Amino acid sequence: MITGSLKGLGKETAKELLNKQYHVVISGRDSLHGKAVEEELKAVGSVCFMPLDVSRTDSIEAFANDVLSTYGSVDVLVNNAGIFPDRAKAGTLDELSNELHEAFTTNSVGPMLLIEKFLPGMLAKGSGRIVNVSSGMGQLSHMGGGSPAYRISKVALNGVTRFYFATLRNTDVLINSVCPGWVKTDMGGKEAPRSLEKGASGIVWAATLPKGGPNGGFFRDGEALEF
Ligand code: NAP
Repeated sequence: MITGSLKGLGKETAKELLNKQYHVVISGRDSLHGKAVEEELKAVGSVCFMPLDVSRTDSIEAFANDVLSTYGSVDVLVNNAGIFPDRAKAGTLDELSNELHEAFTTNSVGPMLLIEKFLPGMLAKGSGRIVNVSSGMGQLSHMGGGSPAYRISKVALNGVTRFYFATLRNTDVLINSVCPGWVKTDMGGKEAPRSLEKGASGIVWAATLPKGGPNGGFFRDGEALEF
């Protein structure tokens, strides 16, 4: 189950998991586009589109009901959907107040609400993989200036990883944050040095970790990063 998977890193992650024979639920806000991407990815493997806006609790509720009534539980949750609302906008925190709220709702709160929906099924089965697609820009140990909405919402997403890890450390439900690196997508821009394939590979790595794999960490290309 991958959020924001109709383009960019989410779609590439879907393709790679389909290549590994996973049944993949792709999701996004635009159902027409979602059905078209579902048709396209059917050439790769077993895929199903379900509508989801991660910034809306009613949408998360309806989506979780759809997924759980169809499949019972999910093996892998990839919290990929994200926004960078202050990418090209500087200002005081007062001027960026809308961007701060939007970023937290989409990048931090949505992932947490989705974990709340799908974690109980993983715990009941005794296994699961949760990947929170974060960013080096949310690294507390190397915090830079600018883009406070994006940066601090990704710090909070890393906090979500650590919060759940506290209760999961002795289980086979592995939750990790992943930075894909700076990748050529609509968000990353054309000047980004990394390909989609390279960026998605670290997400797929965390989504397919074997039993006993790392838990509660922050990774890029499968290598540990400081939070
Ligand atoms: P992207 O091409 O802009 O894709 C973002 C995806 O998130 C889109 O599918 C978008 O859907 C979806 N999304 C945004 N708000 C949503 C919402 N409320 N509900 C559902 N879906 C929503 O960006 P990307 O580069 O692939 O980014 C994927 C993730 O990687 C993000 O979390 C981002 O922060 C992270 N990341 C990217 C880079 C980079 O260099 N690209 C670096 C570090 C981290 P719509 O098409 O409907 O807008």
